Amino acid sequence: MLNRQGIGEGVLHFFFPQNCVNCKKYITESAGYPLCKDCEEMIRKEISPYCLICGRPVPSNRQTKCRRCREKPFTFDCARAVTLYEPPIKSAIHAFKYRKILSLRILFIHLLVEFLSSNPFFRDIDGILPVPLHQSRLREREFNQAEILARGISNFLQKPLISNTVTRKKKTLPQVGLSMKERRLNLQDAFRVENEKSLAKKKILIIDDVITSRSTVESLSTALRRVGSQTILVLALATGK
Ligand SMILES: [Zn+2]
Ligand SMILES: [Zn+2]
Repeated sequence: MLNRQGIGEGVLHFFFPQNCVNCKKYITESAGYPLCKDCEEMIRKEISPYCLICGRPVPSNRQTKCRRCREKPFTFDCARAVTLYEPPIKSAIHAFKYRKILSLRILFIHLLVEFLSSNPFFRDIDGILPVPLHQSRLREREFNQAEILARGISNFLQKPLISNTVTRKKKTLPQVGLSMKERRLNLQDAFRVENEKSLAKKKILIIDDVITSRSTVESLSTALRRVGSQTILVLALATGK
């Protein structure tokens, strides 16, 4: 089930020896992507303790919910991330998104699939929705990183990928450097559901590469609630602290 060769087709054919995207060491024996074994072993797959609702790390395991979730509940039901957004996964995500080293998807999908294998609650869904990118950003980047991850999960779970149903209508500013309030305003009504009936009463798993403030997934899940989606789960590769 967790066979990596099954995730990426012809893995060995497109990999050529290169340096690790995190420690820069030359990789002699590779799993098919440029992150060395030592760095891969450093990826901490447990975030503990964490908020049971939004998955963000909390200071003490006496706290089951973070402050944000206690004060104002999110519209999604539950969010989790595989690991914290820190090196080496941070370097790998950067290399994937900005240097377009797409072979790293093999590692990312493997990590997500590993999480799903031990979390049946996240597998009980009707469809998988990658966080959409705005058309102009999609043109710039040429691919939607969330969609690549969601496609891998869709193949693994044999559940439909929801594509072309939700669009990002506003070109939002980068969230970096904005206050929490500015982030919320920036993302207000950022998503539009095109085929409303298709998502009503459905259990949906939203996929993103990184979740930081949760304002993007919050805005997306607000749009889904509006059309009557029943359960909204979020799974990301990494979470900010
Ligand atoms: Zn390394
Ligand atoms: Zn929380």
